[in-house]
Amino acid sequence: MLLWASTTPLQPKNLLPTTGTLLQTWRQTTPRLLKENDLLLEAPLQALAAHTSNLQLENWLSRGISGVRSLLTQEGIKPFPDMVRDFHIPSRELFTYLRLKNIIQESRIILKESNLISPFVHKCTGKLPKVKALSLCYNTLLTQYTATKPSYMTNWELDLGLHFPVDTWHRAQKLTKQASHSLNQWETYCKLTMRWYLVPNKLAHIYPGANKICWRCHNQEGSLYHIFWKCTQITSLWQDIHTLFCKNLGIGVPPTPECFLLHIFPDNLHEDESYLMIHCLMATKTAIAQKWKSTQAPTLSEILGRLDSFYNYERMASRITERQSRHETRWRRWVDYRYGKM
Ligand SMILES: [Zn+2]
Repeated sequence: MLLWASTTPLQPKNLLPTTGTLLQTWRQTTPRLLKENDLLLEAPLQALAAHTSNLQLENWLSRGISGVRSLLTQEGIKPFPDMVRDFHIPSRELFTYLRLKNIIQESRIILKESNLISPFVHKCTGKLPKVKALSLCYNTLLTQYTATKPSYMTNWELDLGLHFPVDTWHRAQKLTKQASHSLNQWETYCKLTMRWYLVPNKLAHIYPGANKICWRCHNQEGSLYHIFWKCTQITSLWQDIHTLFCKNLGIGVPPTPECFLLHIFPDNLHEDESYLMIHCLMATKTAIAQKWKSTQAPTLSEILGRLDSFYNYERMASRITERQSRHETRWRRWVDYRYGKM
């Protein structure tokens, strides 16, 4: 059941190193073997038992419902009367059905038209007896693989006129998530990268007739890219942040939107430098978001004050997690700049 655990709340502990490596390899390669279908979609029915306790599935398994996929149609989860009709499930199993339905809904598994059964799944279910499993896996892994890129990534790339591999996006997300103990910072980053903010041109699209001009400069269309980066009222703030990096913190980075907004940093940037930069950038972006619809842009002193709060918060969190030395290393340049050499 551990193989299906990546989509369950199950967090295996005290695994042997070989088991841990096996699980890691499985989770990295299954999207390709399953044609990017949800792992739980192809899981055996018993995998759902990891999500709850005392789930009795004997009556379901004995009637040939072996996989999670059997419970779904493109319209959603099969209604209980259909399950009774198709598999002769006893009507007393309604409660178990409702529990299964709840798990599937919470896991957000859906069966789309494009969710074709991959050759790997066919092999696992015994429908490709002539193809050898190892050959099938090697052929799949050797085929050129392009992960699907979510629309928010392609929209940012259109704005910036640049293209980034999905791995680069994922690296930026991972770095940002690891940079802070604050869920608020992570949420703010997600809101911006996933284009959640209701900027004027988005509101004008939703409500025809609404004003789509930027509320700060009253001149340009208020797109997400404009509000957070291109607006003439905000560019001097980003210049100040760039100066803070280069002159005060000794971090040489180009003042580009991919770096400052999306945290796609140059490859030669040291990890500790990128963590400190992320805090500075998040302080700036949360300040911009907090001055929503205000004609005033945040000032550098507001950002520095916010960073003092971030520093204290992270220092307290590092004491709890007993990672104080790592915290001191990451924030050393900030302490030197803000409080003088200590
Ligand atoms: Zn503007």
